[in-house]
Amino acid sequence: MRLVTYVSAGGPRVAGVRGGEYVDLAQTDPSLPSTLKGLLAAGPDALRRAAAAIATGPGFAAAGVSLLAPIPDPEKVICIGLNYADHAAESGAAIPTEPVVFNKFPTAVHAPGAPIVLPKCSDQVDYEAELVVIIGTGGRHIPVEQALAHVAGYACGHDVSARDWQLRKPGGQWLLGKTFDTFAPFGPALVTSDEVGDAGSLRIALRVDGQTLQDSNTRQLIFRIDQLVSYVSGVCTLKPGDVIFTGTPPGVGAARKPPIFLRPGNRVEVEIERLGILENPVVGE
Ligand code: MN
Repeated sequence: MRLVTYVSAGGPRVAGVRGGEYVDLAQTDPSLPSTLKGLLAAGPDALRRAAAAIATGPGFAAAGVSLLAPIPDPEKVICIGLNYADHAAESGAAIPTEPVVFNKFPTAVHAPGAPIVLPKCSDQVDYEAELVVIIGTGGRHIPVEQALAHVAGYACGHDVSARDWQLRKPGGQWLLGKTFDTFAPFGPALVTSDEVGDAGSLRIALRVDGQTLQDSNTRQLIFRIDQLVSYVSGVCTLKPGDVIFTGTPPGVGAARKPPIFLRPGNRVEVEIERLGILENPVVGE
């Protein structure tokens, strides 16, 4: 299943994707929640009824409909740093022996197609293509061998990063450098785990104005998805709709000679095999 959050006259609602159409799930089956986070919280049986609704419900043309991020209001946006060996090397960092975890505030979450805003106070905003994991069933102390059962699905993500804030403010402000408004676009859809298959073996690429700047595969992840879910759940309770940005492959702008930073007018695409393309234009503040 591919699930999106679209903007209806009455606010954000969850829909299923059927070819070039969307099917509003709660309109089709009023026992279903009207939001994707609500649907995930309702559990596996609700997801089975959602699949039935997508197959049989009335569709409307997807063209011209505005999407939000699949989960526009996650409780937690968890991010993993330095999770590809080649990216750790290009960043001049040691290969981590445990996951490097930071976060973005939910106010950074941004819709597919919506402009990334370069803040006036930074001139080093960089791109990072990332596989995003979306939690279905929450939990604490989730064992590695059960962790993938807690994952509802996946989406393309973009960990937009102001390097001057992240690296050169006192103390190194990873949180602030990565949590400016609009710095966490993800989508366009949540693709459910059963449809993705092995998310640890997906091609991941990023293009700026059509030029490929990152091109790798999630096989290169240092810490696998099940390890990340288990590790983070050892610290805090994961909730339905929480998202985990799993780290970026090599090729970021700051590591290039000369460096490349995003500029107004750029158009950034993150493409992940089986998940589609997340496209965002870039504007100045
Ligand atoms: Mn990142």
